[in-house]
Amino acid sequence: MMGGTLKARRYVQIYTGEGKGKTTASLGLILRALGAGWRVLLVQFLKKGEFSEIRALKQLEGPLTILQFGSGRFVRGRPSEKDKKRALEGLAKAKGMMLSGQYDMVVLDEINVAMNLGLLPMEEVIAFMDKRPQDVEVVLTGRGAPDEILERADLVTECRKVRHYFDKGVRARCGIER
Ligand code: ATP
Ligand code: MG
Repeated sequence: MMGGTLKARRYVQIYTGEGKGKTTASLGLILRALGAGWRVLLVQFLKKGEFSEIRALKQLEGPLTILQFGSGRFVRGRPSEKDKKRALEGLAKAKGMMLSGQYDMVVLDEINVAMNLGLLPMEEVIAFMDKRPQDVEVVLTGRGAPDEILERADLVTECRKVRHYFDKGVRARCGIER
């Protein structure tokens, strides 16, 4: 290449499945990427508020932007138009930022769940993936990633539930799940 800087080749990663570890995997990647000097965007669908990881991330040095597009309420049944609009707004915002050249990694946390709940049309997520610049790493998390999305990823990890205390009634614990 004459004159220009060689751009890094980056990839699409998906963490899905029923077992624990999807969001924490993405948080580990964010930690590592920031350590390497990458500029990172974390977009959270469904979630809103200061989970412990958000607190910790805010204490880190480094170029990290965090955006949340959840309602803060548990979405069940048919999602409201307002919730759908907000999720779409989140994806549009993420797309603009991915295309701005200002980020090396974009994490879309729980985006698979947002699709499954009908908050986001899968076609919009596919359009997002098709627009990805080769030098931006994209990470998608959430159980139930649709096949059409999985096909477009370079790295797919399924977290398999061997056992989870959730089934015994142990709900999300501060410091471990939230
Ligand atoms: P982590 O954030 O710990 O890496 P994860 O991202 O893999 O977990 P999610 O699918 O996002 O897991 O689950 C979020 C929360 O939902 C869990 O922390 C747990 O409290 C709860 N949960 C776990 N298993 C189930 C289940 N089978 N059904 C419903 N809720 C579950
Ligand atoms: Mg998760």
